Amino acid sequence: MSPAPNPYLDDDLVALGDMVERFAADRIAPGFAERDQTRVLDPALMAEMGQLGLIAPELPEAVGGQGASRVAAGVITEAIAAADLSMSYINLLGSLNAQILLEHGDPTVATPWLQRLTAGEVILALALTEPAGGSDAARLSMKATANGDHYVLSGEKTSISAADQAAAAVLFARTGTPEEGARGVTAFLVPLDLPGITTSRFDCHGQRAIGRGSIFFDDVRLPADHRLGGEGLGFVSVMQGFDFSRALIGLQVLAVARAALSDAWAYSTERTAFGQPLSAFQGVSHRLAELDTQVEAARLLCYQALWAKDRGLPHTAEAAMCKWWAPKLAYDTVHECLLVFGHAGYDRGVMEQRLRDVLGFQIGDGTAQIMKTIIARTRVGRRNVPA
Ligand SMILES: Cc1cc2nc3c(=O)[nH]c(=O)nc-3n(C[C@H](O)[C@H](O)[C@H](O)COP(=O)(O)OP(=O)(O)OC[C@H]3O[C@@H](n4cnc5c(N)ncnc54)[C@H](O)[C@@H]3O)c2cc1C
Repeated sequence: MSPAPNPYLDDDLVALGDMVERFAADRIAPGFAERDQTRVLDPALMAEMGQLGLIAPELPEAVGGQGASRVAAGVITEAIAAADLSMSYINLLGSLNAQILLEHGDPTVATPWLQRLTAGEVILALALTEPAGGSDAARLSMKATANGDHYVLSGEKTSISAADQAAAAVLFARTGTPEEGARGVTAFLVPLDLPGITTSRFDCHGQRAIGRGSIFFDDVRLPADHRLGGEGLGFVSVMQGFDFSRALIGLQVLAVARAALSDAWAYSTERTAFGQPLSAFQGVSHRLAELDTQVEAARLLCYQALWAKDRGLPHTAEAAMCKWWAPKLAYDTVHECLLVFGHAGYDRGVMEQRLRDVLGFQIGDGTAQIMKTIIARTRVGRRNVPA
């Protein structure tokens, strides 16, 4: 029986989802395991995604987008993630960075990057975390020193997704004093081929095709027109875009969970034990039913957050809910689905790769503890939730 209609998705969005699912099944799913080994995103596939208008479709047409809704961006991101979570970083980083460039960039600098990004020619990284810590991001220490018509960047960003595959990064650095905290942080667009920049690659547990690494800045000269927004406004205004990406992350990991559930439900009717299909045992089918219920509910919450963003309505708490709940739920769901396959689930293959892939989002883009702090602050105010 087909699932109940999703109130946030009209017929056009359902058709869009079907189209992208077919593309993802034909073009992206076949290389899922291989990219885990080679650890590179396929540039040709990224270009195909760009040609189909699948990257940052919410941007205006003038800068390469489709003028689509954020809900449409969610539909696309979800369909790509169902085939390969790493490949859906192209959508996630595309939408997050594009929004920041569009709203805060100097158009003469930002527009050519936006056009290349939506065409699938380049991927941009988001460089915030530093070796001393990620959760307390406002305390970052990487320096950007103004010097005439340019800034000099020095320091290290670490654990950055696509560090060695990105052509540029949206970077947060300190232009003020440490005492100024968040108000001393400024955002920049940094082409990663500037002299003085080097990168490294980590050996990640999952999400290996996108990968993570450090980016090192050794007295890098960056033209001043590459600043994004005003000095000291990096945190205060630029990071507001993270509400958008948190809802997208929820859809990414839930797409993996839904794919795992679909496989596990099918297997539970094919495999027999004690003379019956596995689905006949409530220890199997009720557990899948519970997780299926929660996955559907969490998915609605993600679409609700995107729907609110499309309408300019508050959605910070909902986005943080998506970001802590969905990755934990997706991990628990894939884990349970893997167990339905018995010993076969434990072999190298789709299910264990899914489990490794979804785990990363319990950390990346902020942990559950930090998301719960954000939710608590929206409910009772920052003064009552100081840390
Ligand atoms: C897959 C993946 C992708 C990533 N991609 C990027 C990227 O593209 N760009 C980028 O900038 N960073 C990225 N990161 C880094 C990520 O954002 C940080 O790892 C994360 O913010 C946590 O920072 P940390 O690792 O330094 O942990 P810490 O800040 O050292 O925290 C360690 C532990 O303490 C807990 N903790 C800390 N403070 C509190 C508190 N106040 N209350 C309760 N608990 C607390 C944390 O929840 C965590 O469990 C990525 C990480 C991963 C795993």
